[in-house]
Amino acid sequence: MPHIQQLDSHVADLIAAGEVVERPASVVKELVENAIDAGSSAVVVEIRRGGMGLIRVTDNGCGIAPAELPTAFLRHATSKLRTEADLGKIGTLGFRGEALAAISAVSRVDILTRQAGMAEGASLHLEGGVPGQVEAAGAPEGTTITVRDLFYNTPARLKFMRKDSAETAAVNGLMQHLALSHPDISFKFIKDGVEALLTPGDGKLASAVYAALGRDFARGLVPVSGSGGDISVSGFVTAPLMGRGSRSMQVFFVNGRFIKSQLLTAALEEGYRNQIMKGKFPGCVLSVTLPVTAVDVNVHPAKTQVKFAREHDVFDAVYHTVLDALDKTGAPAAAPAKEPPLPAPSRQDFFQTMDAKTFRQGGGKPQTPAPVRPAWNTELRASAKVADSGQTSFYQTKRQASAAQSALGRAPSSVTAPSERQQSPPAPAYRSALGQPPASVAAPAAEQRREEPVAPAPASVPAEIATPQPAAPRPFVPAIPPEQLKLTENLPGQTALETKEVPWRIAGEVLRTYIICESEDGCVWLIDKHAAHERINFDKLKNAQEPPMRQTLLVPIAAELSREDGALLLENLPLLEQFGFACEDFGGGALLVREVPADIDAADTVSTLEEFAECLRTGRSPDEKRENLLHTMACKAAIKGGWVSDPAELRVLVDRVQSGEVKYCPHGRPVAVKLTRYELEKMFHRA
Ligand code: ADP
Ligand code: MG
Repeated sequence: MPHIQQLDSHVADLIAAGEVVERPASVVKELVENAIDAGSSAVVVEIRRGGMGLIRVTDNGCGIAPAELPTAFLRHATSKLRTEADLGKIGTLGFRGEALAAISAVSRVDILTRQAGMAEGASLHLEGGVPGQVEAAGAPEGTTITVRDLFYNTPARLKFMRKDSAETAAVNGLMQHLALSHPDISFKFIKDGVEALLTPGDGKLASAVYAALGRDFARGLVPVSGSGGDISVSGFVTAPLMGRGSRSMQVFFVNGRFIKSQLLTAALEEGYRNQIMKGKFPGCVLSVTLPVTAVDVNVHPAKTQVKFAREHDVFDAVYHTVLDALDKTGAPAAAPAKEPPLPAPSRQDFFQTMDAKTFRQGGGKPQTPAPVRPAWNTELRASAKVADSGQTSFYQTKRQASAAQSALGRAPSSVTAPSERQQSPPAPAYRSALGQPPASVAAPAAEQRREEPVAPAPASVPAEIATPQPAAPRPFVPAIPPEQLKLTENLPGQTALETKEVPWRIAGEVLRTYIICESEDGCVWLIDKHAAHERINFDKLKNAQEPPMRQTLLVPIAAELSREDGALLLENLPLLEQFGFACEDFGGGALLVREVPADIDAADTVSTLEEFAECLRTGRSPDEKRENLLHTMACKAAIKGGWVSDPAELRVLVDRVQSGEVKYCPHGRPVAVKLTRYELEKMFHRA
């Protein structure tokens, strides 16, 4: 073994510099962060040959005193930190006092600076970290630092530099982030003599987004603003339909610092769950602001990662703020608040600890009124009870289900309500087998059960849809006024749908798939009936606290599955039970199915079970498996494109879409498409 000896300071400096200065973009980052910390309102960045030829950063900040110029280039020399205690409350972007030392160690640096109020400025030249003489010089107020011949004295690093174009692209991306992080500062970026970015510095994030990321991106954004306790979240997220192919457009700032964070990504994406197409990712420019004492920025040499003291709170703040913002958008019509929101279903997702209600009422105070979360069967719910108890009881769930069933024209031959099943050993709570905590289920009181209304028969078919009517009378009159629909009529303890808006007129259905409607404000809506119903089913299943109702098959079905599928399902019989399938081993991989969920066509039994097996095989976590099973159930129970639908079914779907409860199918596809009068007139060259 060679002898151990301490490295000389020059080699030590080069090693330290390597940690901070990895490539030209790291130099730009450090210099611009210094400019921001110096209180500048305008920063100009110029690079040549991807920064390998030259990097120049000019600011109009506070400048450096001539006497302190050489000190600024020493390692661990900083004006931003004094004591150990200061480390726990860093409010500046820089604090390590290493950047200027590191940059000058591996390049040739010139600095020209003048402090405000000083008649004269000063300049200094450094080569490989060795400073020359500080000289008096005329200079504009602020600081200009020029870095040439980066890595000229570290051939090993030089060898690994990528093409100039790759370095230019890296600096370009960085400049976008820096510009977005401080909309109050005007940033100009010039690459090889050509201006590539200019932000106005007017303090508006929207202006910075427009300038840095382009008009197309800016157009599809949804503003986000909210706070939870001392954590506030603001910025923009992409509309669910504008999902992107990668996460590259997820830009997060914490106290004005661009960072990469799996936590924030997870919180953002959780907000889009079931609203965005598979394989698509939301984009965002999100700024999280929290007390400097609640975040540790000293965890990464390049300061691109942080550690939050209260990760759960940060997650909740981002998640709920994004969710609220998405709720408000994409709604076909402003959803009138019909009743207080139900408590969100308790999800034990990654880092999620607070439900939406708690967030909004307690810790979280969104700056805008909290929207009502969609809840299944709003118009059929016994609103008084729900409002009082804040809980969906089993009784209500059952009634909703049966009423909804009849509303959608289903009359299963034999329905086994979960209550009967509960007499024997109580059915496990719906989600427990997949790691969800059992939901507390209020057992129905005997009187309640006696009072339970019999679900009405499907509504009679209003003639307007079956037989096309002549032109609709003006002023706007809905084709099927909701009051004519029996399904919303006078069930004891239930209130009818209270739509403050005029219900959309259903003009008809085309291709047995799309419902055409007209809204009072003169827009035409096309609704995909399967997608809408699938979403309604999905939300219902997800929010339910009980297994779905079942139908006992007169003749049990022997489901012949592949051996693999059969074995997998047999291992998960309790789970199937929770989803409404009563099955047993029939030997040879086959399952004997005695009961199926009431909403599912018995003919779909085998295909549903096959899809279940696929969900169980491919789901990466219990949570994902559960979601996928719910998707399958929701899809199978939905009316299909191509089916002949009862007008009463269509009315229910249209009302849901109009209310804004249903926007996207669980796979993120839109449920409704809007055509304005202007758009139509343009198509016909009238406008
Ligand atoms: P840090 O930013 O971590 O303090 P640096 O090595 O980046 O360390 O900078 C050292 C010091 O030089 C800073 O603390 C600051 O006082 C001063 N400085 C650097 N750049 C500028 C600038 N553009 N304007 C004013 N002061 C600057
Ligand atoms: Mg610095």
